[in-house]
Amino acid sequence: NTLPLRGRTAVVTGASSGIGAATARLLAGRGARVALLARREEQLAALAGQIAADGGRAVVAVADLTDPDSVAGAAERIAADLGRVDLVVNNAGVMLPSPVTEGQEDEWSRMIDLNLAGALRVVRAFVPDLIAAAEGGDQADLVNISSDAAHRGFPNFAVYCATKAAVTHLSHTLRTELGPRQVRVTNIEPGLVKTELTEHITHPESYELLTGLTRSMPVLAPEDIAEAVAFTTCQPSHVNYSQIVVGPTTQV
Ligand code: NDP
Repeated sequence: NTLPLRGRTAVVTGASSGIGAATARLLAGRGARVALLARREEQLAALAGQIAADGGRAVVAVADLTDPDSVAGAAERIAADLGRVDLVVNNAGVMLPSPVTEGQEDEWSRMIDLNLAGALRVVRAFVPDLIAAAEGGDQADLVNISSDAAHRGFPNFAVYCATKAAVTHLSHTLRTELGPRQVRVTNIEPGLVKTELTEHITHPESYELLTGLTRSMPVLAPEDIAEAVAFTTCQPSHVNYSQIVVGPTTQV
């Protein structure tokens, strides 16, 4: 079956660039209807246009995941446009490393509010749909994009690593709540992927460190992570890859 996701309805957060954009494209290519959620409308509209040109279906859902009302509004619009969602990719995130002694509370808050609280807002908005889909006998998936930073420590990355450790533990704990209700929960932990994530870093040494690492080895492409999302969501419903770690071969 070349369109194993035909009939499924997905929401991908952070779909305006990087891993989210690649994932939305691949899920649409496998037959899913996809809601593209992020703040930058122009990028989302361009991606929706590409998906449509390739024969897929995508709708734009502009929202700011740090604003509960914005998330609720997007969920309502997605329900009106596409109906019940049965596949959620909780992917939006931000990485702002700096020495903990500099106490960049604004950046700490941005990471916690998007990477952890934003993911929770998405869970609140769409998990009822996933449960309803599963109760109706349909496949239902929650895929959280965490990071290998959930397990590793890097100097200056304390808060980012902490948010990703929280996402990983959130996935594993939610699985105990949702798995018995036939909703699959998958936690994906990528290593280095070439995206815009590094471009928001304000701390020069951290920026140099990461761009240097990215230049020093063949890092992953966003499409590599999209493949992992498609792989797990295309499994038969009794099979749950709950934890997928995927990194560049040479990143050890
Ligand atoms: P990008 O910066 O390319 O993508 C981040 C996405 O998040 C963008 O689409 C951005 O869209 C969206 N976003 C940011 N702020 C908000 C907000 N307030 N509300 C809604 N959407 C928002 O980076 P990646 O693709 O690399 O990151 C995706 C995920 O992968 C992140 O969770 C990241 O932590 C994780 N990851 C990345 C790795 C890497 O090496 N690149 C490694 C491990 C994990 P917009 O600005 O339009 O809102």
